[in-house]
Amino acid sequence: QAKARGRNGYRFYAPSMTGEGAERLRLETMLRRSIEKNEIFLNYQPQVEIDSGRLIGVEALVRWNNPELGLVAPVRFIPLAEDTGFINQLGKWVLYESCRQMIRWQEDGLYVPKIAVNLSVKQFERGSIVCMVADILEETGLAPHRLQLELTESVIMNTGDALVFINDLHAIGVGLAIDDFGTGYSSLAYLKQLPVQTLKIDRSFIKDIPADSDDEAIAIAIIQLGKSLNMSVIAEGVETADQAAFLLRHGCNQAQGYFYSRPELAQAVLERWLGAGEGTEPCRPRHA
Ligand code: C2E
Ligand code: MG
Ligand code: MG
Ligand code: MG
Repeated sequence: QAKARGRNGYRFYAPSMTGEGAERLRLETMLRRSIEKNEIFLNYQPQVEIDSGRLIGVEALVRWNNPELGLVAPVRFIPLAEDTGFINQLGKWVLYESCRQMIRWQEDGLYVPKIAVNLSVKQFERGSIVCMVADILEETGLAPHRLQLELTESVIMNTGDALVFINDLHAIGVGLAIDDFGTGYSSLAYLKQLPVQTLKIDRSFIKDIPADSDDEAIAIAIIQLGKSLNMSVIAEGVETADQAAFLLRHGCNQAQGYFYSRPELAQAVLERWLGAGEGTEPCRPRHA
């Protein structure tokens, strides 16, 4: 009978509503109402050109602040949102808000070249992703090339129609990046076929540079791979000047990480970068 209840049937066999199961259910219920209760918001993390310090984009990172739970980390609620299907609503909200924010910054005098938005594998399973993106771009008036969608290798390799979706997204003019590159298992032959412009070197390979020479070798290999495939390469999780210098030395001129800026509110991005990206001055963020 529990089975007839579908994928949530297991609940009826749970020995008790305490511990992990109960916690999960509680979180699930709260998450479902998070958007309508205005508990969801975005942080934006600047992406920077290493040699000039210029702002080249931002990545939108979703945040959930619940009065009872406090600030919940995406690693805790994204998987839950994926399991429950809430990710579709959440993903749409994030995409819309991201595009709107680009226009708001522009109205406030700050031109942010592009915004990167993370997509979940579940958003592809629904199939309507391309229409949703096109609708949001039209509604907000953001030029397609200023939106970059981030996919992980697992999304690409585990989605049957990934190539179709990705080609369709490319056709409407949005940019595509492979997030956390190097941690998955995408085939290089497949990668070559994709209209993807950017590889993001996973933070785990950057973290121990310069101490770990294996990580250095991997980072260099990814930079070279990107070059050979005519893609741009950006490093995530750059925390030190040494790491930035290492990247630049090896031909990677784009970075994102705490060394430049933590993810922050739209207003903080505006205050830090307004005026910093203009003129002939070497452009550094104004530190708060
Ligand atoms: P990601 O897309 O790889 O995002 C980068 C993560 O690294 C962010 O964690 C960011 O805060 C963190 N980070 C950036 N620079 C540094 C650094 O220098 N040092 C360290 N230690 N960390 C750094 P966050 O915001 O907790 O997000 C975690 C993951 O959750 C994201 O990884 C992404 O996979 C997922 N996520 C976040 N927002 C969304 C969203 O709107 N939709 C979907 N589907 N997933 C999202
Ligand atoms: Mg990302
Ligand atoms: Mg990443
Ligand atoms: Mg990562």
